[in-house]
Amino acid sequence: MSACENPLCSNELETIPGHRARRYCSDACKQTAYRLRQDEAARQTEERARQELKQQEMEALRDVYGDLLPGTIDFFYHLGQRGHSHLVQSIGWVIRAERDHALQSEDQERSQLIEEIMMLGERMGYSGMTLGRLANCAGPGDFAILGGVDCWSKFVSHASREMLRQARDTAYYHVEGYQKSRQRLKELSKQS
Ligand SMILES: [Zn+2]
Repeated sequence: MSACENPLCSNELETIPGHRARRYCSDACKQTAYRLRQDEAARQTEERARQELKQQEMEALRDVYGDLLPGTIDFFYHLGQRGHSHLVQSIGWVIRAERDHALQSEDQERSQLIEEIMMLGERMGYSGMTLGRLANCAGPGDFAILGGVDCWSKFVSHASREMLRQARDTAYYHVEGYQKSRQRLKELSKQS
């Protein structure tokens, strides 16, 4: 016994010895099964076309609003599908402005840090200093600025923001220590 291959039919088929096993219980079932296969193929073609169109629309969104996160692109796509294109446009420009602003303040912070570091460096005679253990591309390791103004400028022009912050803090403590020890020396020399 085997089942009729029309998914909508639950008839069992009797296998007659010496005969080729039948697949359908009737011609009607055979036709139904054929029609269902055709429908499924058409549905898949339609789904592929829909996916392709979605892909194209997402690319277009990316062209206009820049490299957004996939979730944001998806969100925009669905808003657009519901007829809220004007909303997509407004949100898109808001995101763009926020991103530009963030990039700009990052640049500003960077140049401010560099300025501070070079000023502190000048006060400590651009002497070498260790910056503690920071993760770099080779894993965590010691970072150091070697002595000399050339080394300091080279360092600040290549360092990440995190490294710059650490360099600024370290230089700050160095300068403080430097001042304190000079102060102490002065006091000691006065005493003698
Ligand atoms: Zn059947």
